Amino acid sequence: MSEAVIAEVQGNVAVLYMQSPPVNALSKSVRVGLIENINQALDNDKVDAIVISSKLALFSGGADISEFSGGNLEPHLPTVLDVIENAPKPVIAVLNGPAFGGGLEVALSCHYRVTFASNKVGLPEVNLGILPGAGGTQRLPRLAGVAKALDMIVSGRPEKASKLGGVFDLVVEDPANLLSEGMAFVQDVIAKGAKVRKTSDVEIDKASAPDELFAQYRQGLKKQARGFFAPERCIQAVEASVALPFEQGLVREGELFMECMASKEARAQQHFFFAERAAAHVSDYDKSTPTRDIKKVGIIGAGTMGGGIAMNFANAGIPVVMLELKQEALDKGLALIRKNYENSAKKGKLTQQAVEDRMALLQGSTEYEALSDVDLVIEAVFEKMSVKKEVFGALDKVCKPGAILASNTSTLDVNEIAASTSRPEDVIGLHFFSPANVMKLLEVVKAEKTSPEVIKTSMQMAKKINKVAVLVGVCFGFVGNRMIEPYGREAARLMLEGATPQQVDKVIYDFGLPMGPFTMGDMAGLDIGYYVRESRREFIAHDPSYCVVSDRLVKQGRVGLKSGRGAYMYEPGNRTPIPDPEVVQMAKEEAERLGIEQRDISDQEILERIIFPLINEGALILEEGIAAKSSDIDVIYVYGYGFPVYRGGPMQYADEIGLKKVYDAMCKYRDELGEYGSHWFEPAPLLKQLAEQGKRFADFKQ
Ligand code: NAD
Repeated sequence: MSEAVIAEVQGNVAVLYMQSPPVNALSKSVRVGLIENINQALDNDKVDAIVISSKLALFSGGADISEFSGGNLEPHLPTVLDVIENAPKPVIAVLNGPAFGGGLEVALSCHYRVTFASNKVGLPEVNLGILPGAGGTQRLPRLAGVAKALDMIVSGRPEKASKLGGVFDLVVEDPANLLSEGMAFVQDVIAKGAKVRKTSDVEIDKASAPDELFAQYRQGLKKQARGFFAPERCIQAVEASVALPFEQGLVREGELFMECMASKEARAQQHFFFAERAAAHVSDYDKSTPTRDIKKVGIIGAGTMGGGIAMNFANAGIPVVMLELKQEALDKGLALIRKNYENSAKKGKLTQQAVEDRMALLQGSTEYEALSDVDLVIEAVFEKMSVKKEVFGALDKVCKPGAILASNTSTLDVNEIAASTSRPEDVIGLHFFSPANVMKLLEVVKAEKTSPEVIKTSMQMAKKINKVAVLVGVCFGFVGNRMIEPYGREAARLMLEGATPQQVDKVIYDFGLPMGPFTMGDMAGLDIGYYVRESRREFIAHDPSYCVVSDRLVKQGRVGLKSGRGAYMYEPGNRTPIPDPEVVQMAKEEAERLGIEQRDISDQEILERIIFPLINEGALILEEGIAAKSSDIDVIYVYGYGFPVYRGGPMQYADEIGLKKVYDAMCKYRDELGEYGSHWFEPAPLLKQLAEQGKRFADFKQ
């Protein structure tokens, strides 16, 4: 007998407990265990009813995704649910904890359901690019109502049991009473004749689900579901539950499930699911590596980044000391943080008490001595090596031994910063993304001498402040910003060759990013890129066309949204970009000056010339060991740059379309674009090698 499910006969009731740690995933052993134990309980004359529950904190987390790669998986979940639903004795699900995906489908196939009010259940399959494939799309509408089920299945969001009246036959207030009240409910079912009640027999009230319900839902979803494959199939499956008898609805659900499973979007989303988890596994430390406690944090610089970073720690209940040179700057920084919290309170996301509690965790100081007892310092001052060195020199003097000294630099050499202290093993880069209180990504930058202990502590700290950490090495721009450089450069060059900002932006938006490079540049401020170029003129001197229009705009004070003009024009108080004919004219003049012939450029060329060099840079980053695995790069791009998750990230996208295609296109542009091409389109050796071997980036191991 499988040990993943254990049975206890309590009087006239067989209680089956799933116990497959950590989350009761419905792996083969659980499925086999359920069938075996139900059959045994049915054969036992003393048993009048069967309860399915769990010995773990969760009822069940759903399908075992490690089984997605195949193998002999029989019995499949629908077979188990058939056994449950067709059992001649009543089967009652007692949900002692959350039930997701297949876990909820098990409960839906039972004849009765019992739980406590604050428990949560959901069908999150859509997040993996698929839909509930074991009857969930047919059973949930029958119990929860069509509108509610539609929303839960398409959004993937869990819902509280107290809001799912139709699903549960008994919802107890206090979880501590679940067992006693649940068992009393079971006895009541037995006393009333032990009736079997199949969810599949429930008639859907068609009037509750008119066509307009679906039409409206589709309309409301347009923007959010842009580019995703599964949400529309989820809607169609729920439509089938209304239009078709149960058995036919199940068949339709199965067809739609298979369509989703075969989609590139599902492959990408499942890749990303594993990529995010894999990012936490790094070879720089192991279980035996000690970590340090982070009980108090210092932040230097209360500007854009310092303020946002401080909020992360205050949100996690960790006290922060913020240091500025002048009281005025400090007051301004703290006032902005308060304003941010107050705005959240106005939107109902925080209570006023929570605002005060968080503000109370933030102390300000203009004296370095205030940092003598912090466990971690994050420097977020101006992006200038001399300033950073000065700050780290001062930190070295005041911080206690064992304090972690981190820099939020975007581009500067963390090895050089570390060398300005007497303790380089304690120095690390913690590269947050703007707005730092919102963006999930944290690039953890290990320098040459950073100790494993400091790396491990930083990776764990990231989790505590609700960030997704990716470990990277030192190079200009680290992973994310280094790869965005060719992306921005090509966008600018395409404009010289005849594309307009709006054409380029539309191609990139249609590809799935939240906005194109010109809109992004205007929003961030064109001056930011300009200052980066100023610090790197020697590396771009060989390309006289490099971002020349942007340079001209900045010199004229047209730095983007904040000045009302950049690559686009803006009306006061309005963020909508308006095409600016002067910019197009400027590009024409620069092209003439540089001897670049303007022409019509196809959308395909725009896409390839912007995205492929970004991927090529990713290949260089991989072979240099700056990122340990291609999936880490994908995590950085989805969480830091809005790369569409239904493409899985740039490296997964390249793997999906085939590296040969990327390699061939790089060679083509290298050869077609003359001197410019030979400067910027040389394929990375790793791309060439993998393309020739018919392999993928995902196959590459350091
Ligand atoms: P900012 O100009 O908004 O803030 C810098 C703050 O540091 C200012 O308030 C300034 O008064 C203070 N400061 C300067 N020198 C100081 C010193 N010696 N001691 C104490 N305080 C000092 O800049 P920012 O955008 O917050 O950037 C800060 C750092 O974060 C830079 O290294 C930048 O590259 C990096 N970064 C910025 C972004 C972004 O999008 N803005 C994203 C990631 C990383």
